[in-house]
Amino acid sequence: MIISVASGKGGTGKTLVATSLALSLKHSHGVVLLDCDVEEPNDHVFLQPEITGSKAVSILVPKIGEDKCTYCGRCAEVCTYHAIAVLGNNVMTFPQLCHGCGACSYLCPEKAISEESRETGVVEWGHSDGVGFIHGKLTVGEAMAPPVIRKVKEYASNDGTVIIDVPPGTSCPVVEAIKGSDFCLLVTEPTPFGLNDLCLAVETVRELNIPCGVVLNRAGVGDAGVQEYCRKQKIPILLTIPLDTEIARLYSRGIPLVEGLPEWGESFRQLLKRVTELVDERNRDTEW
Ligand code: SF4
Ligand code: SF4
Repeated sequence: MIISVASGKGGTGKTLVATSLALSLKHSHGVVLLDCDVEEPNDHVFLQPEITGSKAVSILVPKIGEDKCTYCGRCAEVCTYHAIAVLGNNVMTFPQLCHGCGACSYLCPEKAISEESRETGVVEWGHSDGVGFIHGKLTVGEAMAPPVIRKVKEYASNDGTVIIDVPPGTSCPVVEAIKGSDFCLLVTEPTPFGLNDLCLAVETVRELNIPCGVVLNRAGVGDAGVQEYCRKQKIPILLTIPLDTEIARLYSRGIPLVEGLPEWGESFRQLLKRVTELVDERNRDTEW
């Protein structure tokens, strides 16, 4: 089963939930944690994995053969991402905007475009205390997270339980990380900002037709807006983590919640049990 852990914005406790869920399962399930937050991966800070392998991630970007080019402008027209511009007798490429889709070289009438490899990041893998670990790191200054996220997911086996730490927000990298999941846990906090970002995240997972549930972090502050919204939208709140100075202290020191306060291990195992039931129920409904 693949469970993604997402949030509409950063700083809500997504990493705390993803790492603690993975570590709580280390003795009973084959479990692998994928850190797909490739712009700022930090699950390794909590897991301290032994890294056993790595591979560079590259995409193919266009290289213009000026000797063949007639400056017709077709390549700039077909590039959805504005990664090519033709100005008079000059073709300019912007590799950092290029998604490597190949449309420009395919459609160039003069076959003036070849492709060259451009490194945009790296995938590293290893393990930590019975938990498989894979993360991606986008090269500093690069903007194209999805190819690195795709590679991280490719390296994961789908046996056992796969937990994906998704980038914050609701943009392309989020969609790339979540798609293919059996369930999405949405981590939020009980404040108007938390509710606003939760609504956006729910829209995204519903577009992808992935069932979701909420983990309410820092409960005890704010208001009841999130609970009210979840009740109206029939979204289950599957785990509540209180605002607690001890939890915050552990997090700031890079200590996973279930290791600093082992009594939380059972809460996370119950969370997985509930998610499994919800996925099974949905699969039964789909079969009918
Ligand atoms: S489509 Fe080909 S020929 Fe036309 S401007 Fe682009 S590279 Fe040059
Ligand atoms: S490969 Fe795709 S994204 Fe890149 S420049 Fe060509 S058309 Fe644009």
